[in-house]
Amino acid sequence: MTLAVALVLQLGLSSSSAPPPDAVAPDSIIESTVADYQDRLAKLTPENPEPYYLLGEEVADVAVEESERAVARRLFLIAYTLWRERGDDRQAASACLAMTTTVTSERDKSWLRAVARSIDPRMEPASWDSAAWAEIDPMVAAQAAVALGSIRSGDGITARQILADPRVARALARYSSLLQGAGGLARILRDANIWPCPDCRNKRTVRSRSSSESGEIICGYCRGDPGPRLRDDEFITHLRVESLLLAGDQNVWSAQLEVDAGAPLRDPDPDTVARVFGIDGTRSLYRDGLWTWPPGTEPKAPGPTVEAPNNKEPPPAQPESKVGEG
Ligand SMILES: [Zn+2]
Repeated sequence: MTLAVALVLQLGLSSSSAPPPDAVAPDSIIESTVADYQDRLAKLTPENPEPYYLLGEEVADVAVEESERAVARRLFLIAYTLWRERGDDRQAASACLAMTTTVTSERDKSWLRAVARSIDPRMEPASWDSAAWAEIDPMVAAQAAVALGSIRSGDGITARQILADPRVARALARYSSLLQGAGGLARILRDANIWPCPDCRNKRTVRSRSSSESGEIICGYCRGDPGPRLRDDEFITHLRVESLLLAGDQNVWSAQLEVDAGAPLRDPDPDTVARVFGIDGTRSLYRDGLWTWPPGTEPKAPGPTVEAPNNKEPPPAQPESKVGEG
């Protein structure tokens, strides 16, 4: 259990070989294909977000390598940041969607789409069948989660009782595509029918049949550990579905994201985009090959580490993780 949870956490913090934050990617290919590239970079100013976006589109069109996509991503992200600052949600959502062209993993694309929708619901009308997303009674969802746990522990009797309720089956069916990672609904039902252990009935031991041994020995069928043998990834899939069932409908976006991408839980929070990508969107000026803050907007350097007791000011944001490629 601990191992699996640790794995979930690890997956949730995937990192990649993306360039270090705020490093300028080698852009000779971009330079040779995008007209007036350097000139246009130098002329970008935060007063006007759109040129960042437009240049980003051109760069994204020719980008092949990750380092080239990273350039487009940064341009989109700066536009995104600037538009959000002025409350232009529609444009910010467009920039967010544009970033989907700069990432390769479906998971990251789905997440960005979810963020865009959370900013501006008119973006990319949801493609899922709304009937499937009708509200599930939290009690039913909790029962479905219990059924999964029962199956894992080999308590097929409890699992079968719960699964007999068609509402529970429907709740699980909502996550059928995600459950594919653990053999799908079919395996859930099969495991519920196989267990408890046909040999020891989950007692974990059986009476020895050998004349040389007497008394109870470890059950040979379940090896003293009733329940299906789940690989780590299958186990994690179970836990994901359980956590989604227990999280309820408060966050349909992230639930949908899970179903689409089988990804670790990551809220489509518009405020986290820059951090997730390890880009500081407030460095909007390109000077001497580096992205810098407009004069007067630099975050205060963390002074000598004397902290006033009531100082609530957070330190300048540091990139914490980058988007994975996988
Ligand atoms: Zn057994």
